Amino acid sequence: MSARNDSGLTSYRGRLAPTPSGYLHLGHARTFWTAWERAQENNGILIMRNEDLDRPRCKDSFFDAMMEDLRWLGCHWQEGPDVGGPVGPYNQSERMKFYLNIWKQLRNRGAIYPSPHSRKDVERALRAPHEEEADSPFPLHLRPPEGTGMDEPNPGMLNWRFRVPEEETISFQDGKAGFVEKVAGKDFGDFIVWRKDGFPSYEMAVVADDYEMGITEVVRGEDLLTSSARQLLIYRELDWAPPAFFHCPLVREASGKRLSKRNNSLNISTLRENGCNPEQVRAQWDKFL
Ligand code: GLU
Repeated sequence: MSARNDSGLTSYRGRLAPTPSGYLHLGHARTFWTAWERAQENNGILIMRNEDLDRPRCKDSFFDAMMEDLRWLGCHWQEGPDVGGPVGPYNQSERMKFYLNIWKQLRNRGAIYPSPHSRKDVERALRAPHEEEADSPFPLHLRPPEGTGMDEPNPGMLNWRFRVPEEETISFQDGKAGFVEKVAGKDFGDFIVWRKDGFPSYEMAVVADDYEMGITEVVRGEDLLTSSARQLLIYRELDWAPPAFFHCPLVREASGKRLSKRNNSLNISTLRENGCNPEQVRAQWDKFL
């Protein structure tokens, strides 16, 4: 899949998209480092985007700490909430008009429908659905008949779901993971695009922003491979060319388990306070590979 270029922005554009719900951890830092390296290798622009839509979990102080840790590690970005840029605002909490616009387009095309089901799904839709937390496909019999006349996303405090094409294989060539295939309706079901609390889901917000910000390559953890397949369906529905994808292997313990975010000793700030320099931190994540 080739990098998109219909925004008038010509070169490689990558992004760092942290959710500021805690301190920067070794695992996430490595993915961000790869994103920075990819932008460097491609003489590109790197964007910092603050994914702060989950208001109860996100804190400005976490975001500031993450930016400080990333700068200390040696990552630099050319656009972001701290430095400005042509495609801001760079805080998701300030981008609701973009999300509403896309909700309308999807609604007009009949691609999404209001759904009163599953409180658990709503909680999960607040976050990027990393693989371990992935849900089983949404039961088809809970889909309403096609077509609804609603003009706003949540007049009845409903979630909105994307109607996935049953049994269609969604495939893409990933820059790191190789050829990826996911089957709609089997590997994932109708997913939430708008939450009943009035905010877009992770899947929809990230597509809206990556598109509006002219991102040509998305670098993220391989636990989001299924999410990328979902997002490809949104791109297709909107007739938008998708970015290229580069899914990084996760940093794992020797047992194969993903590093626990609860292990504070692996926070970048802790490693730094304990006297590590950036090279030593990078050596730490290599050790876990
Ligand atoms: N904010 C998401 C996270 O921290 C970003 C995932 C993505 O790269 O789309 O997991």
